[in-house]
Amino acid sequence: MFFTVSLYISLVIFVFGLVLKVSSWFRFTLDPEDEASKAGTRVSAALKGIFLTLFSRKILRVVKALFCDILFQSRILRESLLRWVMHMCLFWGFLLLLLMHALEKTISYPLFKDYSATLNPFLFLRNLFGLMVMIGVGISIYRRFFLKMPLFTNRMDRYALLILTVVMLSGFLLEGGKIGSHTAYQSMVEEYAVTASKEELKALESYWVEEFGTVSSAVKGPFEKEILAQGKEVHEVACISCHSKPQWAFISYPVAAVMRPLGGLLDRAGIPVILWYVHFLACFVGLAYLPFSRMFHLIASPLSLLANAVMDAKESDPANLMTKQLIELDACTHCGTCTSRCAVRIWQEEILNTKILPSEKLAPLMAFAQGKNLDEEKIRSLQEGLYLCSNCYRCTGVCPVGINLQELWFKAREAVLARGIPEVLLLSPLSFYRALRREELAQETYEKPLSSIRRALEEVCNRVDLQDSVLDIQKADLGFRKDLGLSDWGESYSFCFTCTTCSVACPVVQRYPNPPEALGLTPHQIIHAAITGFSDPIFKSNMLWSCLGCYQCQEACPQGVRVTDVLYKIKNMAMERLKNKKPADKPS
Ligand code: SF4
Ligand code: SF4
Ligand code: SF4
Ligand code: SF4
Repeated sequence: MFFTVSLYISLVIFVFGLVLKVSSWFRFTLDPEDEASKAGTRVSAALKGIFLTLFSRKILRVVKALFCDILFQSRILRESLLRWVMHMCLFWGFLLLLLMHALEKTISYPLFKDYSATLNPFLFLRNLFGLMVMIGVGISIYRRFFLKMPLFTNRMDRYALLILTVVMLSGFLLEGGKIGSHTAYQSMVEEYAVTASKEELKALESYWVEEFGTVSSAVKGPFEKEILAQGKEVHEVACISCHSKPQWAFISYPVAAVMRPLGGLLDRAGIPVILWYVHFLACFVGLAYLPFSRMFHLIASPLSLLANAVMDAKESDPANLMTKQLIELDACTHCGTCTSRCAVRIWQEEILNTKILPSEKLAPLMAFAQGKNLDEEKIRSLQEGLYLCSNCYRCTGVCPVGINLQELWFKAREAVLARGIPEVLLLSPLSFYRALRREELAQETYEKPLSSIRRALEEVCNRVDLQDSVLDIQKADLGFRKDLGLSDWGESYSFCFTCTTCSVACPVVQRYPNPPEALGLTPHQIIHAAITGFSDPIFKSNMLWSCLGCYQCQEACPQGVRVTDVLYKIKNMAMERLKNKKPADKPS
């Protein structure tokens, strides 16, 4: 009764979690403004996509991904043999245990006529599969805690490892306890050897103590050969059809041997029963927790691999691409391969923000996609991670789950830009990564962050009107001059003698027939305004945000003024000015 109720409760929680998770793939998105983001559109696009795939040549790619990437895990083998052994052990050990042992009533009994958990080959196989899982868990713990892998073990990882360890250890202890248990032996005899005489039962018990490791207080070895022979005869009639020698349980039998000196005590204290509860409760907790934990990747990773095998950013339905990204966020196994190859990983030694690492960005990104109310600090650490990314594509190339991380970073940058404070590096209309994908964004979308930051800056910088024919020296911002002058980057600006070489060398200035009209101030004017302390015209100047960071002005300057560095410093100061305003003042 307890078993059935617990099983059904955990099953109900599992199904509820599964529905919640799968529906989240259609409910959430990194791009809520997109027309294709509506749940109904995405469900029908997914069904249509699956149907078309099943009846097209793409099905061959699905089969290939199924065998090579999912069943054989070839992507992981390419990366590391140790990780491949770990994954194969965990995946196959766990799957086979689930099918053969946990679902024995549904699978093993109908499939094998003579199935019995205590009969070979099943007795041996159960230990083998259990050993595989333990090897997988052991390698995982070794990699996380002893090898210097770039892995950040979070609460979810710990819970998953803990549940798996409890399930496996309690399973082996339970089997070991049962091997030695006289109570278990007695109930077997009462069920299957009812016709045996007292003498035969004594012989059988002696035989089981000698050969099966049963702990008995009634009979003690060494036994006479005749008694053992008689016991063997009774065993062959009553027990052999269900019991192979327990030595085949090559892990549980040694466990039973270790427990043997205390076997009678443990049996009388009901330890095997307690272990039975622990084992099944841990299994049920694991089942119920699965959709809410990192272990959910057991379901999402194969789906991500299959989806990526047939989907293409250019050809696939945008609604399906959106759904695929949500599946990918769930599919991450937190293996750390992407981080081990990340071009900006080196910065983690300096910047104590783990969100600059690809493997650590996915969890906050999922929370972000789900519209959770992340505080500003969390958004900014995610932003920092997204913007420091150098678009090197290494993470996407090595991810064993085939997650298109590059595409996720791109979408996420746009989404964060729309919701958070714009980042200085992205505000130039020629900003590197946005310019690379310009044709994929509508003109309005492309310009929105830039125009919103300019509007916000105009609100903050309203003391000096650029149209003033004569700048009032009383309005000079001496604090600005001090801040800029004190910085390592900006210290050299005061050597400028306004020769205009920097503006002549600037490719942005050259682009416009009337630069002052388009850009406000040109580079030499910005430097001059900085010297005189007129910060507001600089902050409002389009030049500041149109600068490509090409360093041509700096290289051309005859006075060694670090023009580009000064511009970067001023951009950061503008961001600080915005950041320190009340939220209502921030750009929408
Ligand atoms: S994104 Fe891929 S490579 Fe990175 S931690 Fe997740 S599964 Fe591993
Ligand atoms: S694309 Fe970005 S996140 Fe990925 S490896 Fe390169 S720098 Fe790291
Ligand atoms: S090139 Fe150098 S000295 Fe000439 S205006 Fe520009 S910053 Fe000043
Ligand atoms: S770095 Fe200098 S030359 Fe290059 S775009 Fe910016 S202001 Fe112009």
